[in-house]
Amino acid sequence: MPRYDFRCRACGDTFEVNRPMAAAGDPAPCPSGHDDTVKLLTTVGLSGRGDAIPAPSGGGGGGCCGGGCCS
Ligand SMILES: [Zn+2]
Repeated sequence: MPRYDFRCRACGDTFEVNRPMAAAGDPAPCPSGHDDTVKLLTTVGLSGRGDAIPAPSGGGGGGCCGGGCCS
């Protein structure tokens, strides 16, 4: 079940809520009982893997540089 981070605008607290994706947009009261909360962008499963390695231009596989003529 995905985890969502919320921030309470009343007391400034941040808290996590585990809920099904279907209920992702539902409001969540903070642990102190405030209803004025906003959902934060979650980074579950993404942290530590920032940059994707870009694919080599030209497609590769049998190109010029594949044969060593460019080295
Ligand atoms: Zn609060």
